[in-house]
Amino acid sequence: MAAQIIDGKAVSAKVKEEIRQEIERDKLEIGLAVVIVGDDPASRVYVNNKKKACEVCGIKSYEYALPAETTEAQLMELIDTLNDDDKVNGILVQLPLPKHLNEEAVIARISPLKDVDAFSASNVGKIMIGNYAFLPCTPAGCIELIHSTGIDVSGKECVVIGRSNIVGKPMAMLLLHENGTVTVCHSRTKNLAEVCRRADILVAAVGRPGFVTGDMVKPGAVVIDVGINRNADGKLCGDCVFDECAKKASWITPVPGGVGPMTIAMLMKNTVMAKRIQTAK
Ligand code: NDP
Repeated sequence: MAAQIIDGKAVSAKVKEEIRQEIERDKLEIGLAVVIVGDDPASRVYVNNKKKACEVCGIKSYEYALPAETTEAQLMELIDTLNDDDKVNGILVQLPLPKHLNEEAVIARISPLKDVDAFSASNVGKIMIGNYAFLPCTPAGCIELIHSTGIDVSGKECVVIGRSNIVGKPMAMLLLHENGTVTVCHSRTKNLAEVCRRADILVAAVGRPGFVTGDMVKPGAVVIDVGINRNADGKLCGDCVFDECAKKASWITPVPGGVGPMTIAMLMKNTVMAKRIQTAK
């Protein structure tokens, strides 16, 4: 039996429409500052998509495109200015930054109340203890996609492949908050295929095309493919061999059109949340 496709475009459009209506209804004036340093083409695409989503939702976006040779002091100065600017409710620094800039220090400079990516240590800590305002956008998007299938995570075997700070680790934490039994795999994991075959919910966040093959998927599993890669033909693809995995899974996300659009929708949600928190202060 072929898997049903989890349509990330449709789910994200619904989330964005709900946000648009909320902003219109409550006459909210919300601003998101997007900072991009250098001219990485993939980053440029992501920033443009975020700006488009802001337009759809009725959020004002302020773009700061800085040259690759920007110094850390200059970037910090900009962040300080944005932290103090009441029109700016969310600040997003597009990663990766050029090598000479210390990403951790830059993220740490963003006010936690405006850290809509939820990458700062204080927001990550809040996620750990389960008392959070912002959820990291990509894992939060994955959870929404799982919810859209109607499948309850509670008690399920969940396997996350990848342990990065921005995807794998927070993803594992969110599944744990939903009472999943979570295993996190990484490059040192032994018998990875065997571990994956245990998963009722399999999340792939590796960054390698063709990494998850059909034999690694338990029949009936939900497969969430976070990977964004280019195959040998230069076409966008995920970490999963889609056709093979779709034959085994009950639900699967495509790439493109799965997790990617959800990440951006969750960013919009966090920006509205930021406005609410700042207004309540
Ligand atoms: P990282 O490179 O930071 O992490 C990759 C993880 O995969 C690491 O934990 C690494 O293990 C693990 N890994 C690598 N090789 C293997 C292997 N052979 N066996 C098992 N595990 C392995 O990537 P990110 O987490 O930042 O991103 C992952 C993917 O998700 C990328 O394709 C990225 O483009 C995509 N992405 C998509 C987003 C979206 O919106 N859809 C948003 C963010 C990322 P180890 O720690 O041991 O090195």
